[in-house]
Amino acid sequence: MKEKLYTIELNDALKAEDECMFCWLERKLEQENLEFVLGASYMEDDIRAETSRKGFCRHHIKMMYDYGNNLGNAWILKSRLEYLNQELKKQMAHYTPGKSAGFLERLKRPESPAAAGRSAAEAWLRSQEDHCYVCGRMREIYERMLDTFLYMLRSDAGFRERLLESKGFCLRHFADVLQVCEENLKPQEKQEWIPRLGDLMIRNLDRVQEDINWLIEKYDYRNKDADWRQSQDAVQRTMQKTAGGYPADPVFRCRK
Ligand SMILES: [Zn+2]
Ligand SMILES: [Zn+2]
Repeated sequence: MKEKLYTIELNDALKAEDECMFCWLERKLEQENLEFVLGASYMEDDIRAETSRKGFCRHHIKMMYDYGNNLGNAWILKSRLEYLNQELKKQMAHYTPGKSAGFLERLKRPESPAAAGRSAAEAWLRSQEDHCYVCGRMREIYERMLDTFLYMLRSDAGFRERLLESKGFCLRHFADVLQVCEENLKPQEKQEWIPRLGDLMIRNLDRVQEDINWLIEKYDYRNKDADWRQSQDAVQRTMQKTAGGYPADPVFRCRK
């Protein structure tokens, strides 16, 4: 494997004893990328050309606003809007209202928006949220992290041991773990590891289930003096387990 391995990051993630090591890494990665985008990078022409072309998804636009660098946001958005306006002009100049693809055109290019009764302009507009600059940067590193996960699963006994004592993953990231295991492990490795990872997940979903059940019980007046056990933050942990992320996190703001 020639690419960088993220062994230190993965070990740190396990040490954090989070409900999901990949949620923990994703949060770190997302914050680092926000800091990069709204740090000084927007003053570099090549980076601004890229953010103008790729843009940002709604989720990251909101994070950028909350982060709080108003002038930085203004620079990025000024260029992005110039680009979009220019492209929209081209799209609308080529727009012929009511023109759907003819039979031959549909045969030749069945995937084209026109074949599905959509205008090229509509398809172009809808695609603007598909290539967020921050999502793209995160995806690239996240894929390397999954490679590192496999590498450590195969070669690092200490990591394996800590992993099996960890709280497992959220369901969303477990899907990714299953995918890379299926695609990359040898048949006997799959036989060994997929059931083990499955047990880890089920054991930890049971634990969180107990916590959220007890949280509801605690609202019964008969239990008002009973111990909270681990249930006080069970809502946000159950949200994380089922969908990933940290609903209880404070807004991530510029530290300066
Ligand atoms: Zn997760
Ligand atoms: Zn995004």
